[in-house]
Amino acid sequence: SKIKDMSAEVVDSNPYSRLMALQRMGIVDNYERIRDYSVAIVGIGGVGSVAAEMLTRCGIGRLLLYDYDTVGMTKTDAAVQTLSGINPDVALESYSLNITTVKGFETFLGSLKARSSDGHNTGVDLVLSCVDNYEARMVVNQVVASGVDERTLKREGVCAASLPTTMGVVAGLLVQNALKYLLKFGQVSPYLGYNSLKDYFPTMEMKPNPQCSNPACVQRQKEYMQLKPARDAAAKAK
Ligand code: ATP
Repeated sequence: SKIKDMSAEVVDSNPYSRLMALQRMGIVDNYERIRDYSVAIVGIGGVGSVAAEMLTRCGIGRLLLYDYDTVGMTKTDAAVQTLSGINPDVALESYSLNITTVKGFETFLGSLKARSSDGHNTGVDLVLSCVDNYEARMVVNQVVASGVDERTLKREGVCAASLPTTMGVVAGLLVQNALKYLLKFGQVSPYLGYNSLKDYFPTMEMKPNPQCSNPACVQRQKEYMQLKPARDAAAKAK
């Protein structure tokens, strides 16, 4: 009957019902809670725009979109226009700014923490980094730069843009991990790689840098270590 359920969803155009299949299959027991979550997407390009569409179709409660670029109109306004047509129930916020400038960073941080006057929106639950450059990624991560010059990662004359299929696959993996994190099912991968020569997906932990020059990062590391025993015990009890 599970197979029958799923095939029914394929022809169903309601964006929620396809995801409700996860609930009927017993993989998540709280799918409707997706409406309670807010996700920020930084960079509305190849990966970010597809991830935004996927989360919109999943029925996420609120999406905050950040990008400094334009496509005639701002990328973020263009995305809001398209996404509101796909699912008008998602609260969409458009921020056309550069997160690496002082002013842009302030607005970025303020919007992540903002609470709505009715107390419904209580900050952002997850930030997805979909920017295409090292500097912006570092701003999102707030971790120490390893000193790699980004220009050495790209070769002159080589187009670094992804094929649409790659964007779709990467955004799909990203959103699947976002759903696991928000709805607390399955296992979230801290880092997921893909070795295309062997069709092998290595997953690994990212080690924090105790010598990080960012005080906020060192502070988070301390908090993490303090809460670790309780978290490990809870995971073991499961
Ligand atoms: P591809 O692999 O095709 O390059 P991608 O999503 O990794 O896909 P882009 O399509 O270039 O890369 O998307 C990155 C987006 O991030 C762009 O729309 C760009 O304008 C935005 N972006 C980059 N840096 C910043 C920044 N500092 N502030 C705001 N937006 C940024």
